[in-house]
Amino acid sequence: MITDTITITLPPWVGEFLGADELFLPTAEERMRLVVTLARLNVERGSGGPFGAALFESESGRLVAVGVNLVVRGNCSILHAEMVALVLAQRMLGSFDLSGPGIPACQLVTSAEPCAMCLGAIPWSGVRHLLCGARGADVEEVGFDEGAKPAEWVETLERRGIRVVGDCCRDEAVAVLRQYAAAGGAIYNGGWASGS
Ligand SMILES: [Zn+2]
Repeated sequence: MITDTITITLPPWVGEFLGADELFLPTAEERMRLVVTLARLNVERGSGGPFGAALFESESGRLVAVGVNLVVRGNCSILHAEMVALVLAQRMLGSFDLSGPGIPACQLVTSAEPCAMCLGAIPWSGVRHLLCGARGADVEEVGFDEGAKPAEWVETLERRGIRVVGDCCRDEAVAVLRQYAAAGGAIYNGGWASGS
């Protein structure tokens, strides 16, 4: 028998951290500080890589879903923070299309610019806004690979009607990347990237 099911489960500390009440964060900085804190806690709790993401309703600031990097914990190369936040948001809202009928415009907030995989997933998800903390170059500086991304990736999203804003709380996001690298955290690129 081959496997026919995959389950994506956030580490237990995430629910404890967020609490039970609905969360509304009106400003970009507040939203980014939440995902940077998720990234930092993911490192400090030993549950994964130094990346966090969240899905908000753009206008109201209502938090819909969060993600942290679960690649190593989940034995799954696609479980980047952005992918986890997107699939959990789609599950929460009951739609594969976050631009679907009755769904307010959604914003993906990510502690670091998307890699090639997440960049590809963003237009399919239906999000209308993307907010990034650390730059791709910051991510690569600590050893992770971003994959084959077009240099004009921001323009490719904007052409599809997705507003992109970068460098939000960049220093705080970069500090988490460096904290992870300094602690000797696993750099889990594919074999093609590490040359092995
Ligand atoms: Zn990614």
